[in-house]
Amino acid sequence: MSGSLPGQLVIISGPSGAGKSTVVGRLLAESGLPLVLSVSATTRQPRPGEVDGKDYHFLTKAQFLERRDNDEFLEWKEVFGRGDYYGTLRSTVTAGIQAGKWVVLEIDVEGTMAVVESFANAITIFLHPGSMAELERRLRRRGTDSDAAIARRLEVARHELSMKDRYAYDVQNDTVDQAVAEITAILKNQAIALGAEPSPDSAC
Ligand code: 5GP
Repeated sequence: MSGSLPGQLVIISGPSGAGKSTVVGRLLAESGLPLVLSVSATTRQPRPGEVDGKDYHFLTKAQFLERRDNDEFLEWKEVFGRGDYYGTLRSTVTAGIQAGKWVVLEIDVEGTMAVVESFANAITIFLHPGSMAELERRLRRRGTDSDAAIARRLEVARHELSMKDRYAYDVQNDTVDQAVAEITAILKNQAIALGAEPSPDSAC
């Protein structure tokens, strides 16, 4: 894509275990658009391999609540009812958009509904694994959650899947390559609608 584009907000949601992080990582590396990830804050424990400041800003509950009380979050919530907080930092989003970036939020359904109230032009994409059985298989294969945590995540996923019509786009993650290609095409079409010149190898 060529030509300068205005900053944008891109929201990618979907059930935990749907493969969002993998797909988002590939989009950031390969899309050819000025995408940057908004790193959320959380009070949950890092999983093996997760890096503070890259995957999340890992905060204590006291640190999180202080930042919440200072109105530093565009949206925040307690996920899975077990006391883990997650939130989108307002400063990350506004600084990125002002710099002409396409800021990617990887957040849950309620967070999305809160953000679109202030960013009605956000591009909203729901990524899902197709079926609950497939989602359960992926969560078990990931091996990072206890049976009780998996049961909780599936319960939340059932609710999230029922909200997919609230998103502008719905992408089934059959393979990472296909999901990345589909989302790249969606974003490039949006970029063209915003005035970008399509590149010769553009899928659209
Ligand atoms: P995980 O613990 O697997 O990294 O994330 C659990 C859920 O929290 C996922 O659905 C993820 O999209 C969501 N999440 C991550 N960051 C945020 C955030 O800043 N705000 C909201 N509302 N949800 C988030």
